Amino acid sequence: MGETPPLEVRTHTALHVLKGAVQKVLGARWTAGVYVKGSHGRLTVKYHRKPSREEMERVEEEANRKIEEDAPIEELEMTREEAEERWGDAIYDLFPLPPGVKRLKILHIEGWNVNACRERHTETTGEIGRIKIRKFRYRPSRELLEISFDILDEYPSI
Ligand SMILES: [Zn+2]
Repeated sequence: MGETPPLEVRTHTALHVLKGAVQKVLGARWTAGVYVKGSHGRLTVKYHRKPSREEMERVEEEANRKIEEDAPIEELEMTREEAEERWGDAIYDLFPLPPGVKRLKILHIEGWNVNACRERHTETTGEIGRIKIRKFRYRPSRELLEISFDILDEYPSI
């Protein structure tokens, strides 16, 4: 502990925390795309309507509440069968993994987010800093909701 994780590791981890909040507040289940550059991130989910500004404020609040909890982030490795037995298709995104992939790395934030993911993550949600949603955009023709955010640097400097 004591060492600040690289910025993009924090931004990437924020995607998982934000996804948990989006799922909790809006019920959106499927991630359609993710993007990370520096402190900026974008999460795209499948959704059937444009959410209200108030709903998106709640999403941001819930995500930051999870960060304040400083919840542990588990990285597990197991066979695809084991993972599916435990979590079903919750580990998958909109575009499924190729059938040839037999072993999965799983990111797990208890009661919040589980996802097959090979990227690096912070050890706890608190290491992310803070999530600020900058804008959201709904594309009705494709039923996609894009949420753009920044990581604010509030990581303790000790
Ligand atoms: Zn990840």
